[in-house]
Amino acid sequence: MIKKLLIANRGEIACRIIRTARRMGIATVAVYSDADARALHVAQADEAVHIGPSPATESYLVIEEIIAAAKATGADAIHPGYGFLSENADLPDACVKAGIIFVGPSAAAMRALGGKAAAKEIAIKAGVPVVPGYQGPKQDAKALAAEAKKIGYPVMIKAVAGGGGRGMRLVEKEAQLAELLDSAKREAQSAFGNPDVLIEKVVVAPRHIEVQVFGDTHGNAVHLFERDCTLQRRNQKVIEEAPAPGMSDALRQKMCDAAVKLAKSVGYAGAGTVEFLVEGGSLGADAPWYFIEMNTRLQVEHPVTEEITGLDLVEWQLRIAAGEKLPLAQNDIAMCGHAIEARLCAEDPARGFMPSVGDFVHFEVREAEGLRIESGLGASGSVSPFYDSMIAKLITSGPDRETAIARLAESLNGTSLLGLRSNARFLRALTMNEKVRAARMDTGLIARELETLVAEPRDAVALANGISYLARMATHEASRRIGPADDPWGARDGFGNSAERVQTMALTIDGAPHTAHLSWPVDDVGPSVSLAGVEIAARTIARDRGRSEIMGDSRRCFVLKDLVHTEIARPVYDASDVDDDNGHGGNVRAPINGKVAKVFVAVGDTVAKGDRIAVVEAMKMEHVLHAGAGGTVEKIAAKEGAQVTQGAVIVSIAE
Ligand code: ADP
Ligand code: ADP
Ligand code: MG
Repeated sequence: MIKKLLIANRGEIACRIIRTARRMGIATVAVYSDADARALHVAQADEAVHIGPSPATESYLVIEEIIAAAKATGADAIHPGYGFLSENADLPDACVKAGIIFVGPSAAAMRALGGKAAAKEIAIKAGVPVVPGYQGPKQDAKALAAEAKKIGYPVMIKAVAGGGGRGMRLVEKEAQLAELLDSAKREAQSAFGNPDVLIEKVVVAPRHIEVQVFGDTHGNAVHLFERDCTLQRRNQKVIEEAPAPGMSDALRQKMCDAAVKLAKSVGYAGAGTVEFLVEGGSLGADAPWYFIEMNTRLQVEHPVTEEITGLDLVEWQLRIAAGEKLPLAQNDIAMCGHAIEARLCAEDPARGFMPSVGDFVHFEVREAEGLRIESGLGASGSVSPFYDSMIAKLITSGPDRETAIARLAESLNGTSLLGLRSNARFLRALTMNEKVRAARMDTGLIARELETLVAEPRDAVALANGISYLARMATHEASRRIGPADDPWGARDGFGNSAERVQTMALTIDGAPHTAHLSWPVDDVGPSVSLAGVEIAARTIARDRGRSEIMGDSRRCFVLKDLVHTEIARPVYDASDVDDDNGHGGNVRAPINGKVAKVFVAVGDTVAKGDRIAVVEAMKMEHVLHAGAGGTVEKIAAKEGAQVTQGAVIVSIAE
C-alpha cells in the first residue's frame, strides 16, 4: 500500500483526500502557494511544502515543483485532485520517471480520453452514440465554418482541452461564428494552453447524466451508477444528485453499459466519469442520448455517489493505484436512497455572479440531519482571487429525493459567510423551485428562471439594525477610551440620556451612498432609524436583533438575514477614491482583480458608447468591458497581460 501521499491540490478536495488517507493510515503531504500559507489543507496535512507564488501557473501547475516536493518529503504517491494538473498527462509521465505512483489513469489513457475530440472518436469505435459534429484536425476559420454549416445551426464550439464549462460557445447563426470562434480559441489557449476546438450539434433541452466508472490494472471495470448534473449555469454544474430522478431502468442499463465498455476499450484504470446528454428532458427508455466527454479524474460531485453506494471513492482510487484489484464486482455494488450536492461559491448572484474575494469574518454551515460538508475554509480567513470561487460543498442524503432536497434547503438556511458574498440564497431558491422539486428540468432551467432565483429583497428592519449597530459601535469605541464595555448593545449611547437626540449618518449600503437619520430616545432602547423615507421604530429594531446576524466594527458591518447579505459602511474619504472619469464617465475600469486578456482599442481610436473596449479575466470568467461614454481613446493604462486590481483604470476615453 501507499505509505505517504502528496496531494497536488488545495481547498476542499485536498482536505477530502487527506481525510481518507488518514483513515487508511497513509501519511499526507500538502503543497501550497504564497496565498495558501494559512489554508486549511496545509494545517490538516502531516507535512506541507511551499511550492511557489500565488498564481497557479507558478505553483500548483508546476510539475517540477510537485515532483521535487514529493521527493523531498519521501512521498511515494501523488493524488492530483480535480482541476489543476489532474488531466495533464505530463504529470503521470513525470511520476513514472521519478518512480512515484500517480493516483489516476496512465498517461496513455489520459491522452486518449482527455481530449474531447479524441474521446469522441474512441466512443464511436466502441459503439457509443456521440453528439454529431466535427472533431477532426482542421482548425482554420473557413474550414470550421463549412463544417458548422454541414451540421446546421445552432452549433456548439468547444475547446478540445476544455473543462469546467470553459472555452465553450453557443453559436445561434452563421454571422456570429467568426467572433465566437475567436473568443473560444483565445479562452482555450489561455485556460488550457491549447486553442483547438471541435464543433457539434446543440442538443435540445438536455439532461446532463454522467456515469461513474472504475477500472483496475487487472483488466476489470465497473460502474457506480449515474449522477444527474442538469442544474447548470453557463455550462457549469451548480447542483448534482444521484440517482438521476425519473431515470428508467432501461436507459440506466444502456448508459452504464456504454460507460463500462468505453473504459474497457482503453484498459482504463482508476476513477473516471463518462458524461452524456439526454435530449428532451425526460429519461425514458427511448430518449436519445449522446456521449460528450470523459473526465479522467475524480469529479467534484463524487460525494453523491459515495452517499448512495456507501463507498469511499478516494479509497478505491488509492487501492487501484497501489495495484490492487477493484474492491467489489459489479453485482456487489448497490445503491440506496438519494443524495444531492450544492456547490457553495464566494460569488454574488445578484450582481451577475461576480466572484467575491477578500477576508471573511465568519463562516458557518449549520448541522442538519443527513448533511455532509466538504469545505476548504476555516471559521474565518480569506478567499483569494487566484483560484476557483467554489469554497465548499453541502451534500445531504435521505431515503428519498424529497427528503434529501428538504435537508439541503435547511442546511443552506443556516449557512453564513459574513464579509463576503455567497450563492447560498441562490442555491436555496433552487432547492425550493417547483420545477426542480418535480424534476422537470433541463440544462436551461437556471437561465430561464434566473430573475427569481437571484432576487435578494432587502429587509428594512435588518438594515436599520445594521445602521444602529454601526452607530453604537462608534459611540462604544469612543467610550472605550474611558472605560471598557464589550457589548455594543449594552453600551451607553454616549450622547447622554437627558434628551432625545437626532443624528445624521452618511453611509454606503452595498457600495451605494445613502443618508440615514437616527433618533435616540431618552430611555436608551437604541435609536429609531429612518432611511429613504422609511422610519423603523427603536423597539422594532431591538426585536429583530436575534434574527439578523451582524458582525463588523464601527466603520463597516455585514448584516445577514434570510440569506440576504448586506454591507453597510461609513465612507472613508480618500483623494484617490475620487473618480473624475474625465468628467464624462470615460474611464473603463477593472470590475474585479484579474488579468487584462484583451484590449480592443488603440490610442487615438474613436469609440461610441457601448463599444467593446477590453476583456478582463478573473476566476474562470471573462468580463467584457464596454465604453461608458463615446470619445477618443486617450490612454491605455493597462496593456494585455497586465494584472489589474478592482477599480483600476484600463483605458481612458476623452470626450
Ligand atoms: P466536474 O467535472 O468534476 O464536475 P468541473 O467541470 O466543475 O467539475 O471542474 C472542476 C474543476 O476543475 C474546476 O475548477 C475546473 O475549472 C477545473 N477543470 C476541469 N477540467 C479542467 C481541465 N481540462 N483543465 C483545467 N482545469 C479543469
Ligand atoms: P466541460 O469539459 O466544460 O465539462 P462538457 O462537454 O462536459 O464540457 O459540457 C459541459 C456542459 O455544456 C454540458 O453539461 C451541457 O450542459 C453543455 N453542453 C455541452 N455540449 C453540448 C451540446 N452539444 N448541446 C447542448 N449543450 C451542451
Ligand atoms: Mg464536462
